[in-house]
Amino acid sequence: MNVDYLIVGQGISGTWLSYYLQKEGKSFVVIDNNKPNASSRLAAGIINPVTGRRHVEVWLADEILPFAWNAYNQLGNELGIQAISQKNVIDFFPSPQMKLSFLKRIEEKGNYVYDYPDQSHFTSFFNYDFGCGEVRPVYTAHLETIVPAWREKLKSSSALIEEQFEIDNLVINNNTIHYKGITAEKIIFCDGYGCGENPYFRLLPFAPNKGELLIAEIPDLPNNYIYKKGMILAPLATPGQWWVGSNYHWEFDNDQPTTEFREKTEQLLRDWLKIHFTITSHQCGIRPATLERRPFVGFHPLHPTIGILNGMGTKGSSLAPFFAVHLINHLLKNEPLHPEADVKRFSRILSRNIS
Ligand SMILES: Cc1cc2nc3c(=O)[nH]c(=O)nc-3n(C[C@H](O)[C@H](O)[C@H](O)COP(=O)(O)OP(=O)(O)OC[C@H]3O[C@@H](n4cnc5c(N)ncnc54)[C@H](O)[C@@H]3O)c2cc1C
Repeated sequence: MNVDYLIVGQGISGTWLSYYLQKEGKSFVVIDNNKPNASSRLAAGIINPVTGRRHVEVWLADEILPFAWNAYNQLGNELGIQAISQKNVIDFFPSPQMKLSFLKRIEEKGNYVYDYPDQSHFTSFFNYDFGCGEVRPVYTAHLETIVPAWREKLKSSSALIEEQFEIDNLVINNNTIHYKGITAEKIIFCDGYGCGENPYFRLLPFAPNKGELLIAEIPDLPNNYIYKKGMILAPLATPGQWWVGSNYHWEFDNDQPTTEFREKTEQLLRDWLKIHFTITSHQCGIRPATLERRPFVGFHPLHPTIGILNGMGTKGSSLAPFFAVHLINHLLKNEPLHPEADVKRFSRILSRNIS
């Protein structure tokens, strides 16, 4: 089989890359092993314009938010699914200090943070002593619907091979790559956490991060907001179902859920919620995070036939579509990549002998 591109991985990065390549009329095949706890299968998909205790704007917020809104709506229309919703965050302050910090941010004219006028609006549902504020706009990309729907689309055009990609079978030439019976101009790795074992890119400063979540049934909770108080409670596409999480562990020796997280989170929900809830599942995944919290996008300095779209960390929902377009514009129109994302910033590391 001859194609323009071979893509490894169909999480949200491989989904967007293949979507935009198709728009450009390029041929490709995607190899994905359908790992049940791949990050994109578990993520809440929240696209939040602010981060941290001080609610500072996330990197490129003003560009990335409108871009993501348009991109997901377009993809959703083409697939006949709802791919994105606006669900603003109601931030319940866990302490007087956090309340002061939020109000200070509003005073400083920080973008995206607002007073919530009716402070007692949520008292039938939640216990909260220090009030709440609102972050808006916040979007939820419905990765749990998008990734399988795109997979079906790829299958129907015979563009998906569902198996493990084995790097030992990859042959790199000057202008082409070969893998089993496939010849392509380039191979692009969108393999998330799996990339740590890839000899071409494993020297990149990945900093994988383990995260857990619970799925809860909370039929009586209004699903027009995401709620936050230490943990996040985000409505899923199925009415009454909620995503609850998460934790962040840089050091771990397995990708399994822990009793500690489950007990702590259930206790937190019991203290916070005034209404009935039932936990229906507990899952765990590894975020493909990086030490300097920027993605890895571009081509290997020594092997221009090998590319990467990875390192999306905690923000794959917004970074993946944005940087998929950048990568394709770089590839097809020779446009420069964003310097903080371009993998060439690690040229010295990537030029080391990898044998
Ligand atoms: C608990 C949790 C909560 C999160 N919440 C959010 C959130 O609210 N908002 C947000 O933006 N992000 C969130 N994230 C992060 C987000 O999930 C990631 O940034 C994003 O999903 C990464 O997508 P990816 O496609 O790059 O990688 P992945 O999702 O890991 O996809 C890689 C794909 O490649 C496949 N693969 C890997 N190796 C091979 C191989 N050798 N052969 C074949 N296939 C292979 C895998 O099976 C997988 O399908 C969260 C992550 C976790 C774990």
